[in-house]
Parts: sequence; C-alpha cells; structure tokens
Amino acid sequence: MVVEREKLIIIGGGAAGFFTAISAAEKNPSADITILERGTTVLRKVKVSGGGRCNVTHNCFDPMELSKHYPRGSRELRSAFHHWQPKDTIEWFEKKGIKTKTERDGRIFPVSNQSQTIIDCLKQSIRKLGISIQLNQRVCDIVKENDKWKLHLASGNTVTAKKVCLALGSLKESKILDQLRKLGHTIHPLIPSLFAFNLPNHPLKDLSGLSVQNARIQTIPKGKTQSGPLLITHRGLSGPAILKASAWDAKQLAEANYKFEVSINWLGSHSPQNLTDHFKILRMEHPTLRITQNPFTEIPKRLWSRIVSLSQIEKDTTWAHLSREKSFDLQNNLSAMRLQVDGKTTNKDEFVTCGGICLREIDFRKMESTLHEGLFFAGECLNIDGITGGFNFQAAWTTGSIAGQAMGKTISSETSS
Ligand SMILES: Cc1cc2nc3c(=O)[nH]c(=O)nc-3n(C[C@H](O)[C@H](O)[C@H](O)COP(=O)(O)OP(=O)(O)OC[C@H]3O[C@@H](n4cnc5c(N)ncnc54)[C@H](O)[C@@H]3O)c2cc1C
Repeated sequence: MVVEREKLIIIGGGAAGFFTAISAAEKNPSADITILERGTTVLRKVKVSGGGRCNVTHNCFDPMELSKHYPRGSRELRSAFHHWQPKDTIEWFEKKGIKTKTERDGRIFPVSNQSQTIIDCLKQSIRKLGISIQLNQRVCDIVKENDKWKLHLASGNTVTAKKVCLALGSLKESKILDQLRKLGHTIHPLIPSLFAFNLPNHPLKDLSGLSVQNARIQTIPKGKTQSGPLLITHRGLSGPAILKASAWDAKQLAEANYKFEVSINWLGSHSPQNLTDHFKILRMEHPTLRITQNPFTEIPKRLWSRIVSLSQIEKDTTWAHLSREKSFDLQNNLSAMRLQVDGKTTNKDEFVTCGGICLREIDFRKMESTLHEGLFFAGECLNIDGITGGFNFQAAWTTGSIAGQAMGKTISSETSS
C-alpha cells in the first residue's frame, strides 16, 4: 500500500517561514513540505538585518522578562516563550555549528559577524530535510474548499493542501489582506514601528553626532517614559531611547501624523528634585566656577554649552551668581527640554510593522487560526512587534517553531501524545 505523504505549504521564505518549515520537517520527516516565495530570493531581511550582522536574538532567558520587550503580543508570547525562547535559538544554531556571541547591550550575533552565516545554516537545514523552495510564486488568493486550502498563484497555477502557514511578513502592502478579511480575520492597523524622530530646524542640529548614554525621554502628551542612549542627528533624534518610544507609542504617534513634542531629560539618572539638590551643592562648593564649565561627565561639553546658551545664561555667570529664574531654566532644559517633532525617518538597522492578524483569533499552542482549521500563522504578519535588539527575529523563531511542530503533527502522533 502506498501511503500518501502529508502536504504542508508555507507561504513566505523569511525567517518565520523557514523556521516553520524546518520545525514541521523535524516533527514529521515524511511530510511533503513546500515554501512558496514571491521573490527571486529567500531570507532577504535576514541578509540586511543588524547592519549585515544579523542580531538573531537577545540575551534574556526569562519568558516573563523577555515578553516585556514587545509593545504588541507580550501576553501571548509569554506562554509561547515557554515553548521556544532565546536559549533554544542559540542551542539550535550551535547544534548546526553556528557559534553566537553576546554584546554588552544583550544583543546576540553570529560570531562571524555575517548574516550570511545564518542564511547558509537555514538553507542547508532546508536542503537536508528535503523541503522544497519555489521562488517567484506569489500567492494571491486563499480559498477554503471542503476541508482543504486552495492557493491561487499569480502564475495562474493552484496548489492545494490541508495545512497552510502564512509567514508573509508585514501585511502593509499585501494583496492577501482582503482574502484574510473575507475569511473573518481581523487586521489591526498596519503602521510603522522603530523609527527616528525628525526635528526640522532643531536647535541642536549642528551638534549632530553627539550622544548621551543614559537619557530619559517621553513623547507628549501620553507617551511612556523611555531611557537609554540618545543620539543627535542632522535630521533630529535617534538611538535606542527614541526607537523604544517609536515602538511603544507607535499608535498614538501615527494618529498625531508624526507631529508631537518630545520631552528630554539629558541626565537620565537625575530626577528634577535631584538636580535641584545638585545645583545647591554646586553653588555652595564651587561658587566661583563658571556655569559654562560642564559639571556633568554624563553629557558632552558642546551639548552642555548649548543647554546653557538656550537657557540664556551669560557666559561669565558663576554658580554663586546664577539667578533663581535662570537656575530654573537651566534645570528645565536639562531635565525636561521640549522639542517639536515633525515626521519620522526609517531606522536603517531595523524597522518593523506594528499591527497585523488579531492575536485573539490565534491559538498560540499551535499558531493555528481559531476560525479555520489548518490555517497557521507565523512571524511579522501577526500583531506582534518587539523593540530593537533581536526581539523581532526571536518572535519569528518562536512562532515558526510552534506553527511548524503543530503542522507536522500527524493524526498518529496526535493520538500517541
Ligand atoms: C533593515 C532591517 C533590519 C532588521 N534587523 C533586525 C535584526 O537585526 N534583528 C531582529 O530581531 N529583527 C530585525 N529586523 C526585523 C526582522 O527582519 C523581521 O522581524 C523578520 O524578518 C520577520 O520575519 P518574517 O519571516 O515574519 O517576515 P519576512 O522576513 O518579511 O518574510 C516574509 C516573506 O514572505 C514573502 N511573501 C510575502 N507575501 C507573499 C505572497 N503573497 N506569496 C509568496 N510570498 C510572499 C516575502 O517576499 C518575504 O520573503 C530587521 C528589519 C529590517 C527591515
């Protein structure tokens, strides 16, 4: 008797699609697995990721702690990380001979510093497992026929399978959006996350290139406070603190059409009260010291001078002669400088789309639609996004691994487990 191999289709040859296919094949080696990719190559984002080095994951192994790095999807990922988390990612790559290294800020890269190492490893795994990749195959329609999924390809061909995984990446310009809605799935608004702020004609423009290591920033009126390195650029502001704010406040910043104010505390470790005390000490201990001499090692000299001049303090003023009013202005510019943002700039290192398939319609134990049997999802097409630091790839590995294992489960393995 000839036993027909179970056919599994994965749409999308990115990080999530590859991991889904690999996990499915590892679970069910006899399955007939195909990745349909619309482009001429696969893993294009992996190639350019992390400035060409691919920040594969992050050095955070506690699911609860890890989930806090996701503005959307945090609750659902918390349980998913018990299934597949950064430790599993690192071990998986190590087993394939890819050593990783952790940088001081927790980002994890291949030791080679080359994203190609990750691509080669994933491609080799696919080859060894006998998974087929079909390029130039854009899926333009998904229709349920009886208990099967019929996929219409742009080439005019059709493919049918009982289990299909959508690993399409950002749905922003996806032609499949309408089909997903027709199938009853809700799509959360698709908007950018992880971007730098534009500040046309800002008063710090000529200080472009300067950075502080520990700033605290908040977008006005309702942003969450974020801390971390802040970089002044010729266009405006960038750096981890800004990128975090762009992710956490993505929805309200889009609603404001990217016109809003940002409040900056250049001395993140000093609260306004702490600064008042610090100024008192300076007045008492260094009465003859000129204000223009930078008393804070945390901020660059040129930035301090600019903050003093924006506070309209005369060059020769000493701490003993600083008026109450000017002292207040200086404190304010140091701990709550308000700047007007108008527009955003794509961060070259990493950008993602926030929004996508509503997570309430997904069973996270299998990454399967709760509306339709045999329809799975993985990666960025879901309403999941992380801050910069390897969290987005981790979400792709985790959701891909769960989807793949569930797809690979045969009826016999279901009854035996
Ligand atoms: C410049 C840049 C750098 C980044 N760097 C990092 C980093 O260092 N670390 C990190 O964690 N994250 C990084 N990210 C984010 C990360 O790349 C994404 O989160 C991740 O690639 C998502 O994987 P995915 O498989 O879901 O989607 P994708 O990688 O976008 O893959 C989706 C695939 O599906 C295909 N596809 C789409 N529609 C169809 C269709 N209808 N038919 C057939 N195929 C289709 C696409 O062509 C694509 O190949 C970066 C992003 C960018 C843009």
